[in-house]
Amino acid sequence: MTGAQIFENIRIICGRISHAAIRAGRKPEDIKLIAVTKTISIQQIKEAIDAGLRIFGESKVQEAREKIQDSRCKIQDADIQWHLIGHLQKNKAKTAVELFEIIHSIDSVELAEIADKHAEKAGKIQKILLQVKLSDEISKYGILKDNLFELVREISEMKNLRIEGLMTIPPFFENPESARPYFNELRALRDKAEIMGFNLPELSMGMTNDFEVAIEEGATMVRIGTAIFGERSK
Ligand SMILES: *Cc1c(COP(=O)(O)O)cnc(C)c1O
Repeated sequence: MTGAQIFENIRIICGRISHAAIRAGRKPEDIKLIAVTKTISIQQIKEAIDAGLRIFGESKVQEAREKIQDSRCKIQDADIQWHLIGHLQKNKAKTAVELFEIIHSIDSVELAEIADKHAEKAGKIQKILLQVKLSDEISKYGILKDNLFELVREISEMKNLRIEGLMTIPPFFENPESARPYFNELRALRDKAEIMGFNLPELSMGMTNDFEVAIEEGATMVRIGTAIFGERSK
């Protein structure tokens, strides 16, 4: 992708985000665009920054570490945030706490305990989302909905973590309308947790193929890679 293509893609995506928000009676500024940069070079990320984006999502801790370290000097911008959107292995939790503003993929009490311990050592309150698994065919990862409220209760006791909301990855469908029930269900789970007294403002849901439907169903963070940077080679 050339810089001009990335600019144009971002212009189009931002327009589509705004339209979807307005259709749903929501404010466009309430939806954060997370540019997914797995396999994407620093040079291309710089183009996205020049186009105005500031939040970047990586799915692997190791790849993110190299990229973030490499970018620190090349891109000096204090507003840039990195989010972990992929599965987190326990032995990478320490690095993840060092690198990421928000970890979207906490899916067990054990993993949360480890992240909490590392956050304490780092003197940080680590923001997290709980990844919920709403279908058997999707990824192996995520909390089953029957266990969600118990996990919210336990993890919200951890002093160095702050649960900001929920995340899900529905199965891939050609027709994005088919993903709607999953997004709707995540929002319903969040609403139920709020009635129980937990504050979970963020819903991380929606990717290139289905982000508009996700916004209509309440997404506050959409994670978009392909529509910005093109098809990934790896
Ligand atoms: C790769 C990835 C995305 C972005 O997918 P696109 O279809 O390229 O927009 C979003 N979320 C997660 C968890 C991913 O791994």
